Amino acid sequence: MLKLKDETLLRPDAYVDGAWTASPSRFAVTDKATGETIAQVADLDAAATQRAVEAAAAAGPAWRTKTAKERAGLMRKWFELILANQEDLARLMTAEQGKPLAETRGEVAYGAAFIEWFAEEGKRVYGDVIPTFAAGKRILVLKEPVGVVAAITPWNFPNAMITRKAAPALAAGCTFIIKPAAETPLSATALAELAHRAGIPKGVFNVVTSDKAAEVGKVLTTHPLVRKFSFTGSTEIGALLMAQCTSTIKKVSLELGGNAPFIVFDDADIDSAIDGAMIAKMRNMGEACTAANRFYVHEKVQDEFAKKLTAKMAGLKMGNGLDDGVALGPLVNKDGRDKVIELVDDAVKKGAKILTGGKAPDGPGYFYPATVLSNVSDDAKMLNDEIFGPVASLQSFKSEDEVITRANNTEYGLVAYLYTKDLSRGMRVSEKLDFGMIGLNRGLVSDPAAPFGGVKQSGLGREGAHEGLMEFMETQYISVTW
Ligand code: NAP
Repeated sequence: MLKLKDETLLRPDAYVDGAWTASPSRFAVTDKATGETIAQVADLDAAATQRAVEAAAAAGPAWRTKTAKERAGLMRKWFELILANQEDLARLMTAEQGKPLAETRGEVAYGAAFIEWFAEEGKRVYGDVIPTFAAGKRILVLKEPVGVVAAITPWNFPNAMITRKAAPALAAGCTFIIKPAAETPLSATALAELAHRAGIPKGVFNVVTSDKAAEVGKVLTTHPLVRKFSFTGSTEIGALLMAQCTSTIKKVSLELGGNAPFIVFDDADIDSAIDGAMIAKMRNMGEACTAANRFYVHEKVQDEFAKKLTAKMAGLKMGNGLDDGVALGPLVNKDGRDKVIELVDDAVKKGAKILTGGKAPDGPGYFYPATVLSNVSDDAKMLNDEIFGPVASLQSFKSEDEVITRANNTEYGLVAYLYTKDLSRGMRVSEKLDFGMIGLNRGLVSDPAAPFGGVKQSGLGREGAHEGLMEFMETQYISVTW
């Protein structure tokens, strides 16, 4: 049974125009380890979503005319309240999402860091003054908030995927509506409760909880008052929503799927590569767009790497993420686990060898053990599909050129990892990899100050960094003569 120090952080209603909004229709949010219902959450429809858009539009003029310093002050309070309630937010997230407490504490701090960082960065929205050919004339270039922002986020990072969008939007002077994933809406409503306590004005931050994703998504992507749409989720749904945005020519940002290669050269520090591999593979039980999906290990070090990785993976304790010492929680739902089972079965049929794991246990919660597969064949489905589970697929390689070609052989381009002690090789290979982000001797690339995002079918635009703020601004130019 989920226990919080502050029970009022568990909010089962939507948050629209500064008020808790109930609905006659509700949907169950479950504890992913036990299967118990945590709350029956308000299931908003198209009409309620439209009201949220109107509320955000009405709040826009007052919010954008505040100074950046005033907005930053309110955001700072929000950030501090999130950290003051870190433990409760982490427990709530572990229950509704599944990952262990150590990870959810980390995500709450990471999510809050976006609010802190963008509150400050919002003070540094500079323009340009450009000389022209004509005397007595100047071009002034200003940055203006884009207006109402709508966002849709997935269940794998129920806090940080929201703050990564909301923080730059609010700092830019935009108002914001989020539809969180139906599996994990309670982390979003808890953020709204704390935004309310921080004094963020009504209509500035709205949470539309709903189990009617297509219906709500249609309003958010077609309503003329929404000027920017920001999505994190699968490439398939991202493409559909981008198409829906065309009728009203919205600005669009997409953070989509990945298929990250993890390359280990023969001169790598193997122990450090193993530490990086554990983070890149096992963060969020492998349910991350940044998860290492294809391990390419130089043939000279493949046995050592496989042995050490297998020992670490086999040593992870699986269980309810609220219990001490647990490092591997349940996967989010039956579909997610069925996909992992299918991909492992397919790889084994095509010749892969299971070094550890590979069998789902019975019982409540959709658990899957940490699994390592060697000798994965090139035609295994898991090399093309996101595994989204705790399964490492190992292949070997002989040469630098060969591994670059194989790593780039995907329609995705989010992140690639490589380990080598030779920095010149590291830089040379990094620049030849077609990915938006590279972890060079690092298994983690996320940072509020870094431009997170992918190329090819992994997305459009960047989140984090000054670039992330500019995603929520329009350029206005004033031609002045005197
Ligand atoms: P998903 O099915 O695309 O769902 C993501 C969000 O879209 C959820 O809120 C979902 O609502 C909503 N949605 C689904 N169908 C919709 C529709 N027809 N219209 C409007 N909204 C719709 O993705 P997922 O499987 O939950 O999440 C995993 C994916 O996200 C993976 O591909 C992963 O790589 C990607 N991801 C990317 C990043 C990144 O930064 N690049 C970060 C995290 C995750 P419901 O929950 O109600 O279905």
